[in-house]
Amino acid sequence: MTMLWSAHKIKYILQCPRKFFYKSVMRPRAKEVIPAHFARGNFLHQWMKKMYNKDGTLKYKSADSYANSVKGPWKQIIEQGEIQGQKINWRDESQPYVIRDQIMKTLRKVYELYSNQLPPLIIEERFKSEFEFGNEIFNLTGQVDEIRVDNGFAIRDHKTKERAPRKEVLDYDLQFTFYPLIIASLIKSNSFDSLSSKIPKILKGNLKSALEKTKNMNVIEIASDISLEYHLMSKGEIVNVSKRTPEHFYELFDTISYAKELNEKYRRENKWPVNRFSCNECTYIERCYEDSQNNKLEEITKQSEIFSKPCMPVKIINKNKTERIKFPKAKKKKLEQSVLNLD
Ligand code: SF4
Repeated sequence: MTMLWSAHKIKYILQCPRKFFYKSVMRPRAKEVIPAHFARGNFLHQWMKKMYNKDGTLKYKSADSYANSVKGPWKQIIEQGEIQGQKINWRDESQPYVIRDQIMKTLRKVYELYSNQLPPLIIEERFKSEFEFGNEIFNLTGQVDEIRVDNGFAIRDHKTKERAPRKEVLDYDLQFTFYPLIIASLIKSNSFDSLSSKIPKILKGNLKSALEKTKNMNVIEIASDISLEYHLMSKGEIVNVSKRTPEHFYELFDTISYAKELNEKYRRENKWPVNRFSCNECTYIERCYEDSQNNKLEEITKQSEIFSKPCMPVKIINKNKTERIKFPKAKKKKLEQSVLNLD
């Protein structure tokens, strides 16, 4: 079975297979309930798309008018109690308004930053790409927040946290490895050439020279040359993230391969074990709780499943990270050979 892998799917199956089951296997999907700060993040991402006119000029005249534009739509979300089909779990009655004020404050910061920059080339777009690597086919997909061509290609990821993670965490962040690979494959397959007629005039020269630079590069070289930016929206700051190296991509393929194996194994055995380490951030916690209450799940710390038989503990990927990054020389050589075949 061909699975379209995203950074989220990989994270889910490694963190908690049950979460992966609810999201990617069970149909119709289990209802998600999201904490208010997730709703804030979703909304801010949607609102980034509304900042520009088609010609790349800013749609709003000031930071205040951009921030004020959210009032009506946010009121609707409060009334509906959900965003993009996901129910919001408000902590108390005042929280929707506290979050609205946070959103407005953030958008003022964002506007101040963006009004001094070139517009993005692409905002909030989903991409798909297929790779052949080491005799395996990988179908990858990802929604990229922004692609920029200020000075060569750059990927910018919008984050709504108060602080950026440590450099060591960002250096191995899965999304920042995933996206450049997908974008590089699209550049290599000339998908970006057709953009010229659709993008604002002001970006045409930059796009042309960015594409020119990639002409004699293979996919991995292009991906390794893409700049990466963590946009700390609440502060209106850009944190530069280290560019990826070929090793990052070897590790990614290796990790996806492992995720594929797990997926096949769980499907074959019809077992989706729980792993309670990441329940705090899980949007399926209500559904999972119900299943537990109905005796479909076992005790919290034990590995269990909602079907008939118990199963083995789940491997947590972070614990094995160093093991998975380093390749024995022979294997690495083989992988490098495979990378060359990506052209
Ligand atoms: S609540 Fe915890 S155990 Fe249940 S699906 Fe979510 S992460 Fe897994």
